[in-house]
Amino acid sequence: MTYKYYMPARIISGADCITNNSGLFKTLGKKALIVTGADSAKMNGSMKDVISALESECIPYALYDRVASNPTVSCAYEGADYAKDNGADFVIAIGGGSTMDAGKAIALLTVQEINESDLFSGLYENKVMPMAFVPTTAGTGSEVTQYSILTNDRAQTKTSIATELLFPDLVFLDPKYTKALPVKTTVNTVMDALSHAVEGMLSVKGSFLSNALAAESLRLIRECMPQLLNAAEQTKKTAERPEALISVYTREKLLQASLMAGMVIAQTGTTAVHAMGYSLTYFKNIDHGRANGLLLAGYLKLVEKVQPELTARILSLIGFSDIGQFKELTDRLFGEKEKISEYEFKKYSGMAMKTKNIANCIVTPTENDLTAVFLESFN
Ligand code: NAP
Ligand code: FE
Repeated sequence: MTYKYYMPARIISGADCITNNSGLFKTLGKKALIVTGADSAKMNGSMKDVISALESECIPYALYDRVASNPTVSCAYEGADYAKDNGADFVIAIGGGSTMDAGKAIALLTVQEINESDLFSGLYENKVMPMAFVPTTAGTGSEVTQYSILTNDRAQTKTSIATELLFPDLVFLDPKYTKALPVKTTVNTVMDALSHAVEGMLSVKGSFLSNALAAESLRLIRECMPQLLNAAEQTKKTAERPEALISVYTREKLLQASLMAGMVIAQTGTTAVHAMGYSLTYFKNIDHGRANGLLLAGYLKLVEKVQPELTARILSLIGFSDIGQFKELTDRLFGEKEKISEYEFKKYSGMAMKTKNIANCIVTPTENDLTAVFLESFN
């Protein structure tokens, strides 16, 4: 059995894992740059726990809380300038994939002079600031990947900085921070994790080990689905706090599923689904997980023509016997779809075909195939 596996992050999971392991921050450096979005880290208790842990270890910190969803290249440079101005020598990123991805780029750009034109070149010196991550959404798995995905206005899409330097040193997984994650964001992020696991199984880089992680991730997501569907449906009926319908036990499973699916794509990369989804996010402001989730059933249909057994295995892991049932699930989770023209889909298909993701696809699509997947997904 030939495969390689590399994922160097130390993962610490469980209730109060930050407070109980504060001493580990000392191993990373002398002054922290805490990287967050505008609000959530302040409201869900994660930033408070990180600051208390730093104070208990007498580690000073500066706070950069200007990361917005789908972080831009300029946010990464701004954060790095802020880190330099404040003399920070390690990063603690708290939040969703956006914050962690910004944290990775900041950790790289603080210690290396990289021109914007070379940012995605893959050619970097062998240095980066140490990083600790606290994921507060359950979907991207960015805490265990070597990718920082930034909104790249020059290319009118989202582009990855991909280098093993970007694996963090430490990951703290505590589901209590995800308790108040709105149902919509919960659903979108779960579908990102599901997409990672499925795309990993549809990647030419898949292996015995990545497939085992993907299968377990899908099994956990399947177990959580009834609660998620119920919460999504209650949201439509304007329940007061529908996120409370998702138990902490389910939240914990989703965090572990997202972690494992992140470990999968760290080995396999993503496929055409993510490449297509980037245009939906860039041009139509559709959330990353929703974009992938909407495309997945149509993409599976394409793969099924050439790989019926593999498709059946993936569907059975999610709990279905045919693609129609899976499509019904995504329709129920996502509700009304955005209106997008065929002309736009053709443009996005052309862009997706130019990405490295296409080489990962176990069934190589044509540009027309991708347009057909778009049309089918949004009909
Ligand atoms: P996100 O953009 O990080 O966060 C979405 C929203 O959720 C933000 O408004 C955020 O608020 C809020 N939020 C976060 N945690 C919360 C909590 N615990 N309670 C309440 N609200 C909370 O969404 P995401 O789906 O996690 O990340 C998407 C990004 O990750 C995309 O840019 C995508 O390209 C990237 N991604 C990266 C990888 C990778 O391997 N690196 C893989 C997949 C996707 P605040 O802004 O106030 O924090
Ligand atoms: Fe993703």
